[in-house]
Amino acid sequence: MKFRTAANFCITLLIITIFSSSAYAWARHDLMTSEVVRDLGWLDKFGNMTVTEYLYDDPTVSQIKIQYYNKEYKELLPDEFYNHALYEKRKFFNGSPVGDSISAKQLLADFSDEPDWELDQNLELSWMQAFSGESQGYRHMYYPALSFHMPMGGWPQGQTPERAQHFYDLAKTSFENGDTYWGFRFLARSLHYVQDMSQPYHTRQFYWEFINLKDPFYGTIQTIKNYHFVYESYIGNLFRLEQQGEMPKTLISAVRYSLPVEVESPESLVKYVARRSYWQSSNTMQTSIGFFGESYMGPGAVSMSTEDFFYSIRRGDPAAKAFEQDVERRLTLFGKATKSFLEFARRDLKLDEYKS
Ligand SMILES: [Zn+2]
Repeated sequence: MKFRTAANFCITLLIITIFSSSAYAWARHDLMTSEVVRDLGWLDKFGNMTVTEYLYDDPTVSQIKIQYYNKEYKELLPDEFYNHALYEKRKFFNGSPVGDSISAKQLLADFSDEPDWELDQNLELSWMQAFSGESQGYRHMYYPALSFHMPMGGWPQGQTPERAQHFYDLAKTSFENGDTYWGFRFLARSLHYVQDMSQPYHTRQFYWEFINLKDPFYGTIQTIKNYHFVYESYIGNLFRLEQQGEMPKTLISAVRYSLPVEVESPESLVKYVARRSYWQSSNTMQTSIGFFGESYMGPGAVSMSTEDFFYSIRRGDPAAKAFEQDVERRLTLFGKATKSFLEFARRDLKLDEYKS
């Protein structure tokens, strides 16, 4: 009995330690969002908004300095491969200084990445955050009801629905006050959480094929991290190359030609996207193993090299095709989530009647 208690304790400690890594979901919300908003003509009315200062009091986020523009903004070159999860976080956004102007399309793209900066870091939210990558992970990952996960399998876990609703409510207040800039900026933040749910690794904590028999604890968790990170970086870089005209626009098409669904609230949209994403996650994980290969199986940390990336994007074998098909489905879900959210905001906030 004593042994079992001690063993359970050790396992729990190990799992807590291992799950406490940061994750960012999609590496480039900005690029993907820019392709969705491109087709939304109603946003053109908000082509010239004045950037206003942040005058809101939001005690639920880390108190960080608000950024309006990025002096160091530089897009990667077509021959570069940037490992988003492992390198020091770079901010890919342009923005505009206070007093200058910006379009809603640009703003939504730029700041759909904002919640991945520091907003949700170093917060005490729940004892369960240790199982989801600390406070940031606990807000950006959501394991739907009836799914298997630690520590409370079966129960929904994570704050993503609430966070999407929180920023949507702030957007509503801003528009009511006539603050269009912050209205859209809060919408961009809210949108981020909805979009995160289309990344299957953010709705599923565990997949049986990732079990590492040689090292069941560290090996298994490192394996999950390896595949999660290579998945995000690979797609982020490939998407950029498509925009730069270096690759056929397969992922761009998937994002753009998706159809919206009827939405009740941002909170319910997050849950809807998370459920769909979770149901399809076995296929994502299986095709990830098939495509990236077994070298990403732990216990060591493995990441993609530049050579391997440029070789992999030109592969046409069955494993590459199966993976590509699955990624297209995920990005279609991303596009669907984004369009559904913005269409809901347009109607609910009566943005067509809004005097910009
Ligand atoms: Zn995120």
